[in-house]
Amino acid sequence: MTQMPRPVRLIDLAPTMARVLGVRTPPLDGTSIDLVEGWGSDRVLLAIVDSLGYGLYRALEADLPNMRSLAGEGLLLKAESVASSTTPAIASILTGLNPENHGITNTTQASESEMRSLLEWATSDDVSSAVVMEEEGARTFDGFVDLVIGVSKSLKDGDFDREILAGTLLALETDPKLLVAHFLGIDRIAHRGGGIGEILEAASEIDGHLGILASAIPPRSMMIVCGDHPLHAGGLKAVFDGDYVALILWKKEEG
Ligand SMILES: [Zn+2]
Repeated sequence: MTQMPRPVRLIDLAPTMARVLGVRTPPLDGTSIDLVEGWGSDRVLLAIVDSLGYGLYRALEADLPNMRSLAGEGLLLKAESVASSTTPAIASILTGLNPENHGITNTTQASESEMRSLLEWATSDDVSSAVVMEEEGARTFDGFVDLVIGVSKSLKDGDFDREILAGTLLALETDPKLLVAHFLGIDRIAHRGGGIGEILEAASEIDGHLGILASAIPPRSMMIVCGDHPLHAGGLKAVFDGDYVALILWKKEEG
């Protein structure tokens, strides 16, 4: 009898990355994704693409050559999202805990929270880490993570994501074992009620950035691309599935 693989959830990412990096964690709600066992990676680049729902990704993938190629060489999984808004979703991705267990619903709370995440556990275990995200969110990591690069929220969509790319490339120069970057373009367009054409434009730009990052990371790195939640705003909100995000896992081969 063939056993169905268990569904993958976003809370499985923190334990998966911790395992790859050899970082110890407290007890978590998520469990390590065994599909990547034996990949032999020693570094992780996690690119969170805001609002990259699974249904949305499948609808756009024909026009996203870099993500398609990462998924083709690696894995494309339909991952259960655990929260419908950004801050609790990212907290779940980085803590491996369900929202009711990390209790973080906004960035103010995140700053005041005693809750630690993979980034801090990595630091405690002398595994260098870096985070590149919108400055308010980035501030919550100040003092706990080796390198924190914040990007101003006031930058326009395309410019914002280009700064995230630039910051991520800068962070790569310090050779972090764990690097987390958060792209916002798709979500911003959705919040403004943009149509599928505009969303595709934002997704294509991000796809280009991901291609650059895939080239820039050292061999044996694992690159993870995931949505934080499905589209949660705008006219396309209900068009695609509401519970799953795209999750791409890829390992960069030598040479
Ligand atoms: Zn979001």
